[in-house]
Amino acid sequence: LVVLKDVQKHFGDLHVLKDINLEIGKGEVVVVIGPSGSGKSTLCRAINRLETIESGTITIDGKTLPEEGKALAQLRADVGMVFQSFNLFAHKTILDNVTLGPIKVRKVKKADAEKRAMELLERVGVAHQAQKFPAQLSGGQQQRVAIARSLAMDPKVMLFDEPTSALDPEMINEVLDVMVNLAKEGMTMIVVTHEMGFARKAANRVVFMADGQIVEENTPEEFFTNPQSDRAKDFLGKIL
Ligand code: ATP
Ligand code: MG
Repeated sequence: LVVLKDVQKHFGDLHVLKDINLEIGKGEVVVVIGPSGSGKSTLCRAINRLETIESGTITIDGKTLPEEGKALAQLRADVGMVFQSFNLFAHKTILDNVTLGPIKVRKVKKADAEKRAMELLERVGVAHQAQKFPAQLSGGQQQRVAIARSLAMDPKVMLFDEPTSALDPEMINEVLDVMVNLAKEGMTMIVVTHEMGFARKAANRVVFMADGQIVEENTPEEFFTNPQSDRAKDFLGKIL
């Protein structure tokens, strides 16, 4: 579903993505981990075209990402993205946050968008907060709204970039639970996270990045118990 071929990216002299090759099948859940600065966020942003690449190709469902214009907006709508910071529109209600994209980009009728939004808010456990504003919700609740908002666009793949790292510990699991359910329902997901519990529970594959390269790919079980490279061993030694 998502295919990256020979992807290269520099920031000035810094080579942040070095010849990245990665294929993610439909329904697959891939956890990306690695040291700070290894290029995990840049990889996510490149997949969503928030970042340009210098060479190589990124295709989503057989379509190569266009540079700009309408086609880009459509394709980007196929890729849901949830960031560390929740990025909700502060002056819009929770319900409006979720319906905005479908109404504007997918041209869904307001009533239909609201019906679907309420179903999604129900699914992530915040339907009773629909008329509130983001600041009135906890961080965990806001992040669940952010997930519902992405899902409202009917994305083909969901990208998560450290979705729980800005949350207080007691709120982490309520967000991870939503993500585990999403994975079980068959959503294709690329998740940057250091939450081993999530990786073990939901991931088909762990991709370990260091210095802009994919150093190692394995099942969560194998990766965590039997890392192959020195860099992966060193990294796991620090975080486990
Ligand atoms: P973290 O775990 O800290 O989030 P990361 O693996 O997500 O790290 P990236 O954010 O992808 O790493 O950054 C990779 C490298 O590119 C880092 O050295 C970073 O400083 C650099 N970088 C990222 N964005 C930019 C930018 N817009 N301009 C210049 N350098 C950047
Ligand atoms: Mg990052």
